[in-house]
Amino acid sequence: HLSRAVPVKDEDGKIKMWIGAITQIHKLKEEEERKESFLKLASHELKTPITSIKGYTQLLLERLKETKEVLPKSIPIIPSLERIDSQITRLTRLISEMLDLSRVQESKLTLQKVSFSLNRMVEESVQDIQYSSTTARVKIDHKDQLFVHGDRDRISQVLINLITNAIKYSPNNKNIEVKVFQEGKDKACVSVRDHGIGINLKDQQNIFERFFRVSGKDEQTYSGLGIGLYLAKEIMTRHNGDIRVKSEKGKGSLFTFSLPLEKIKES
Ligand code: ADP
Repeated sequence: HLSRAVPVKDEDGKIKMWIGAITQIHKLKEEEERKESFLKLASHELKTPITSIKGYTQLLLERLKETKEVLPKSIPIIPSLERIDSQITRLTRLISEMLDLSRVQESKLTLQKVSFSLNRMVEESVQDIQYSSTTARVKIDHKDQLFVHGDRDRISQVLINLITNAIKYSPNNKNIEVKVFQEGKDKACVSVRDHGIGINLKDQQNIFERFFRVSGKDEQTYSGLGIGLYLAKEIMTRHNGDIRVKSEKGKGSLFTFSLPLEKIKES
């Protein structure tokens, strides 16, 4: 932005000083801060009504499924409510992503670390997803039984994000394979393989950046904010772990995250 500054010259034509540059940078920074606090406020404000809508939808669904009364056949009440419920889940995830993003930016994303079984966490996360997505088939391969030390909910969030991406970017073949395995002496890994649209080599270098989304005719069909993988990377880095991708356009993708393996004390 220095190019927007104007040079002030002395009689010899030598540049005495530049004006404009500082105010420009200052203004840009202010604008950036305003945008960020708006994002934070907006996601906070959205969260309350969404939570309430979700509560009422689930209550209705529960009661309608239990009721002995005959529901009108011409109105698909239950399927419609289920559709509403799954769209609310999507909306809730988007809002949480926005909130997490502001937490990361303010260095307020705190981790509550515990020791836990990676295999059990994977089982539970996959169950959660299968519950809300009936079209996808997620298979788990527990190659090794592994323990790690970290924020269980945050790590589960990373996995859920990878699996929902795998489902989202696989319009035709929704078979997803999740694998838990050890790498070398001290790494615990979880990988998610899909057979979807894939990512070309150039874009693979950028997908972990904030707001990056692959652009193209195909990709315009998929909704998202481009925050999920950025958060995943951030969460892994904060655990001294990592996340990587292998992919081929048109064939599918393999995302793998790794964490330091917890040493099990032998008693
Ligand atoms: P989004 O909300 O856009 O999905 P992410 O940060 O999760 O944001 O992903 C960034 C981009 O990486 C996506 O917009 C998409 O272009 C690409 N991407 C992520 N996962 C996959 C996948 N499994 N298959 C193909 N492309 C993917």
